[in-house]
Amino acid sequence: MRIEEDLKLDYSDVLFRPKRSTLSSRKDVDLKRKYKFKYSGNHWSGIPIMAANMDGVGELEIAEKLSEYGMITCLTKQHDVKKINKFKKIKNIYNNIALSIGIKKEDFERLDKILKQFSFFKFICIDVANGYSERFSNFIKSVRDKYPTKTIIAGNVVTADMTQELILSGADIVKVGIGPGSVCTTRIQTGVGYPQLSAVMECADAAHGLGSHIIADGGCTCPGDVAKGFGGGADFVMLGGMFAGHDEGKGKVVKSNGSKYVEFYGSSSDTANKKHYGGLSDYRSSEGRTVRVKYRGKIKDTLSNILGGIRSSCTYVGAPSLKQLSKCTTFVRVSNQFNDTFVK
Ligand code: 5GP
Repeated sequence: MRIEEDLKLDYSDVLFRPKRSTLSSRKDVDLKRKYKFKYSGNHWSGIPIMAANMDGVGELEIAEKLSEYGMITCLTKQHDVKKINKFKKIKNIYNNIALSIGIKKEDFERLDKILKQFSFFKFICIDVANGYSERFSNFIKSVRDKYPTKTIIAGNVVTADMTQELILSGADIVKVGIGPGSVCTTRIQTGVGYPQLSAVMECADAAHGLGSHIIADGGCTCPGDVAKGFGGGADFVMLGGMFAGHDEGKGKVVKSNGSKYVEFYGSSSDTANKKHYGGLSDYRSSEGRTVRVKYRGKIKDTLSNILGGIRSSCTYVGAPSLKQLSKCTTFVRVSNQFNDTFVK
């Protein structure tokens, strides 16, 4: 047994230190990024925020809205040829869509079928809860061999060594985060995890050294956390909970005590397992929660709020663009993030 004594930090452990700036207005801040991906060679430009491949979030209607802002949506694993075919506007938004798969044979087959019919998709997201297995790296290699020009996202991991391993196996973008998610119970069920800001900083450093990119996946509770992800070096920030509860997610709205709610659940929750796989296998336990989130109407308002927050973070630290945010970032460690007198 060994204990690592270095302090590891979450978003809530830090705040941005404000800095002198010549920026006159937050509306001048440019949030667009342009990336070229390591293996696919594809170019992408847009606002690097992603919707998670979770029910009610990784949906085509969400993708349609996010695409207007140049944001990417990772579709849920339930999207097959039939479902995609029904969505007539797919040709307008394919640039900002990632197809999600697990590492089973059926996943690869579903991917093949989709790409046979819709060869225009550019992103493949190979998503497992635990990205540390040899089988996972081998699976990435086989997808890379078959699809050399697609941009491969792979995860999740939280350490520099495994970020490098996934990149060397063929991933263009590594997804970072184990246990920080709003409906994730991995830390409770297994005791495994890594504070998200430190994971992002360490994995970004490893990926950038190899000419690759990372996604900070999970744990954002407010626009400030999204900005902290970028400040910590993330190339993309992925959101689940912050995008839940909107009209475009198509979740059922229920009324209770005069308020409206939408059900939201983790991809490894009992709810998701029952819905998609007929329940959990005996040898597994649920690692996700089912919750009710307040119904939040159109996603447009949420997006404006998030983007407004990030623009403001940039002006506080003197970054004229999102690209410069991480260079302009000095975090201060805090023991209290905000005044919550009227929040509870
Ligand atoms: P959030 O933005 O809600 O904090 O986090 C979203 C992320 O949580 C997802 O992108 C995914 O990585 C993770 N996640 C989603 N569902 C589950 C689950 O059931 N269990 C675990 N461990 N993580 C989940």
